[in-house]
Amino acid sequence: MRLKLRNIFLVYFVVSSVGLLYAVLQLGQQCDCSHQMKSLGMGRPKEQNPGHAKGPREKHVVDQLPVIYLVTPTYARPHQRAELIRMSQTLLLVPDLHWILVEDSAERSPLVADLLAQSGLHYTHLNVLTPPPMKLKEGDPNWLKPRGVEQRNEGLRWLRVNQSPMDRGVVYFADDDNTYSVNLFKEMRYTQKVSVWPVGLVGGLKYERPLVDKGHVVGFHTAWKTHRPFPIDMAGFAVSLSLLLMHPEARFDPNTERGFLESSLLTHLVSMEELEPRADNCTKIWVWHTRTEKPKLKQEEALEKLGRGSDPNILVYLSHDYQHIVKAF
Ligand code: UDP
Ligand code: MN
Repeated sequence: MRLKLRNIFLVYFVVSSVGLLYAVLQLGQQCDCSHQMKSLGMGRPKEQNPGHAKGPREKHVVDQLPVIYLVTPTYARPHQRAELIRMSQTLLLVPDLHWILVEDSAERSPLVADLLAQSGLHYTHLNVLTPPPMKLKEGDPNWLKPRGVEQRNEGLRWLRVNQSPMDRGVVYFADDDNTYSVNLFKEMRYTQKVSVWPVGLVGGLKYERPLVDKGHVVGFHTAWKTHRPFPIDMAGFAVSLSLLLMHPEARFDPNTERGFLESSLLTHLVSMEELEPRADNCTKIWVWHTRTEKPKLKQEEALEKLGRGSDPNILVYLSHDYQHIVKAF
């Protein structure tokens, strides 16, 4: 009996010593927390579904920030890569952002897919071609036809298929050539219905902005078609995800009168009195409607005729078919 007790004690001693040793060794180890981070919606997993409109449906736990869904139409031209690099690197500074990049093309181009895969952002890559009659022709002034309409609607369609009204988020339509301060994203994140702010360098003015009295929007500082229900540029508002999902009819109307594109969406969603002014009662400019000068490529064509064109293996554009783009430009 005495012997048995001693054995039991010995086994107990050895087992607890091994356990203690294991615990001490684990203390010094690095933790691979990527799976925990993913389940919290953190980290930056890449779009795993190049096939179609299904992105990572990450569930953000209650204490996480509402997600900013940024819908960006984009199309092939010589400075497209420059625009998307500039934009993506601004977006890297914004937490909990999901970039929905929609190409105006018949297919998603592999080089845009590569750019996104290397961006370090959460993203979804979509495409839809603007019907040819609606597309600007060479030499057309850019105001002749609305631009990026089908692509923004495709972004809305993706959100309606892939998100539920329970998901907390805000949707912003961010063109690929504007200039965005990181402050803008802080302003829009907590949007109840539709939040608004000024846009710099737009509408032939230094800025356009909502006019605010006692915390409410009472009018707009704009010079053009002032009778529009919402004389606001695309860059000047964001919409709550759940509001958009509650109004499946709300979309951009490609056939609306010039200047009424923003109103064609917003009239389904809010009244002017309900708009939520941001950016210090709409007195700060955090987004600019900048436009990039078309690059001049005459010398490129001249050198190509001499057989001394630039090395096609050096990536400048997002299309290998750059000859075609240069001519169409
Ligand atoms: N865009 C597009 N297809 C086009 C022309 C423009 O998808 O044929 C996109 C463009 O990349 C941008 C948005 O639509 O994100 C608005 O176009 P743009 O910047 O030319 O318009 P503007 O600055 O004149 O409003
Ligand atoms: Mn633009």
